[in-house]
Amino acid sequence: MAVIGLGLIGGSLAAAVREHRLAEAVVAYDRRFDDVVAGHQIGIIDETAETVEQAVRNADLVVVAVPVRATEAVLQEIRPHLSPNALLTDVGSTKASFVDAVASVFGEVGPNVIPGHPIAGSEKSGVRAANSELFANHKVILTPADSADPAQLNRLKRLWEGCGATVLTMSVAYHDEVLAATSHLPHLIAFSLVDTLAGEDENMDIFRYAAGGFRDFTRIAASDPVMWHDIFLSNRQAVLRVIDHFTRDLGQLRTAIEAQDSATLLRVFSRAKAAREHFSKMLSGQAYVTDMSQNQVTFQLQPGGSVTGDIRVPGDKSISHRSIMLGALADGVTEVNGFLEGEDSLATLQAFRDMGVTIEGPDNGFVRIHGVGIDGLQAPRGPLYLGNSGTAMRLFAGLLAAQEFDSELTGDESLSRRPMGRVADPLRAMGAVIDTADGGRPPLKINGGQALTGIHYEMPVASAQVKSCLLLAGLYAEGVTSVTEPAPTRDHTERMLEGFGYHVHRKGATASVSGGGRLTATAIDVPADISSAAFFLVAASIAPDSDLTLRHVGMNPTRVGVINILKLMGADIEVLNAREIGGEPVADLRVRAAELSGIDIPEDQVPLAIDEFPVLFVAAACARGETVLRGAEELRVKESDRIQVMADGLEAVGVQSTVTPDGIVIQGGQAIVGGKVDSHGDHRIAMSFAVASLRATGPIEVTDCANVATSFPGFVELARQTGIQITAQGA
Ligand code: NAP
Repeated sequence: MAVIGLGLIGGSLAAAVREHRLAEAVVAYDRRFDDVVAGHQIGIIDETAETVEQAVRNADLVVVAVPVRATEAVLQEIRPHLSPNALLTDVGSTKASFVDAVASVFGEVGPNVIPGHPIAGSEKSGVRAANSELFANHKVILTPADSADPAQLNRLKRLWEGCGATVLTMSVAYHDEVLAATSHLPHLIAFSLVDTLAGEDENMDIFRYAAGGFRDFTRIAASDPVMWHDIFLSNRQAVLRVIDHFTRDLGQLRTAIEAQDSATLLRVFSRAKAAREHFSKMLSGQAYVTDMSQNQVTFQLQPGGSVTGDIRVPGDKSISHRSIMLGALADGVTEVNGFLEGEDSLATLQAFRDMGVTIEGPDNGFVRIHGVGIDGLQAPRGPLYLGNSGTAMRLFAGLLAAQEFDSELTGDESLSRRPMGRVADPLRAMGAVIDTADGGRPPLKINGGQALTGIHYEMPVASAQVKSCLLLAGLYAEGVTSVTEPAPTRDHTERMLEGFGYHVHRKGATASVSGGGRLTATAIDVPADISSAAFFLVAASIAPDSDLTLRHVGMNPTRVGVINILKLMGADIEVLNAREIGGEPVADLRVRAAELSGIDIPEDQVPLAIDEFPVLFVAAACARGETVLRGAEELRVKESDRIQVMADGLEAVGVQSTVTPDGIVIQGGQAIVGGKVDSHGDHRIAMSFAVASLRATGPIEVTDCANVATSFPGFVELARQTGIQITAQGA
């Protein structure tokens, strides 16, 4: 391998390659031979080259690591000596400039040319600052042309990965746009700000009293002036675009300060704060993906115990989503308590901020939404990212189909595989214009400015998401939009619309809205999620001497199957203070230990308890007699094949069961002896076995539990507080 330009980056790459033995030999050339000799002395290269020819002649990989404006001249020197099969790459901070230089020197960009850019560096320069660890845990962007040789690309990827980096690929143009915004503009601002302040009369005082924030913010102004001069000139067009954009936005802030326009200032600052937090979360999420070992959480459970106390489990996810949506569209300020701060509902919150809605919080479950009115959303500046939330994507599709502006909905990898045709098709029938990727999958591209007309829709498959999507579109449609469901589904949207003063006509299996109304802000105390409460309902029922009160639990009739089933099994659950809040019924539940009996679970209860079966299986294992579940095919296609995974887990702790095509048969009264259970990343299965430990005779270990934190933040602490002997390792 030959390195041309033995400075900070060239030297660091040479050092890492040598240290990890990623090349047979590293030879280097620099226009200052002193630097090459120094590199040899400090042991980061194998051979010194006095000319470019010496370096390049026998090399199968040539890395150009000189300032970007010097690249073309260096390539001229390389050209006569470069072997036809050698891989040619660079490390420059701008990529169009490298590709242009290659094209002008070689007449084309051949398949062996693969531009690269390590996103790592320091304010220091020169070979003496070289550091073999510089790229570890950093990203390297490669920008291969479509015609690049895949074998060469692979080889270069492996080289950088061998240095500890994560490799991404993207197009040259995209690279230059992204870097103009994320690296070049911040450097420009830092140079300019420090220069401006240094020119002020009282400059010594300014620097003397400079606070830590100033130091952090302007640290990058100490970077190499020549390098940055080169970068700005090489990436001129993209840099000019972001400077213009930034100057315009800065001008708006100036105007807002001059006019004492608090609303604008608050909106911009809170949007920026939230975006920064969102980015940090997303970035740490990415770190998980690259290092799966960090993502391993194991629950260790000691057997026995009883469950007591007075608790409130986190808020309902469906209601948290909808509270943000309707709060944003309402007239006035909506205050939400008990908001579930899970990834999905946070993505929804961020999406509304991106559409110009000022949202304060979330702060310990409290969110204040400054509604913009039914027609007040603004065009987002880019695609709206909805994480892993299928609910959000389907509901947003309905809402955005009717807006004046175009929008694009994207999600994470798993959401991007889910079909959206079942909402796109009926929306199109209302007049919406929506494009999807192949197979009706995300991203969804929605063309705004369409006049929608109400339709009557008979849902082929019962789905609360499809129903909600159409009702939200119906708020904007001409006439009446009505949806008939083949079986009852969750009705949170209908109830919350009523809570915001928007009438939903409900008759039998049909819900309808008339377009053209308005929503009025309200206060929402999000009910605790009955699906989360279910773990504690079972825990207190099966553990001797238990007495637990669960506060403010959502009692929506479409969700209470778990209570009905447990009561049929003989559970002692008292419903206290039943009341209605924001259209949703809630109550406090007092649960005491009881002798449970096995039952044939009535099939009409199955859809009402579909998420709660894993923990109900634990109840069945602790009951006297046989419990039979039928009609639950849907359970086999959830986050995991829940029936099989539960049966495997029960077996691992000593409980036999019989899996049937649509359910399971469990003989109660078997001893739970303990053992090791794989939850297959399914949060509900992990929590169910935490509950099972209360009746176990030996310890239980549950692996792959990281997802619990997203659906039930604080589960481990709350479980421990009530008496479950749980610890989480690797969290
Ligand atoms: P550096 O430490 O200044 O090293 C550049 C080296 O190239 C110096 O030794 C320089 O020699 C030599 N050089 C300049 N013109 C040359 C020519 N015509 N022929 C042969 N050698 C020549 O700079 P660096 O930080 O390593 O940057 C190198 C490249 O990496 C740049 O394209 C930069 O955009 C990119 N990059 C830098 C960073 C960073 O944070 N520093 C991060 C990512 C990418 P002299 O000492 O005689 O000038």
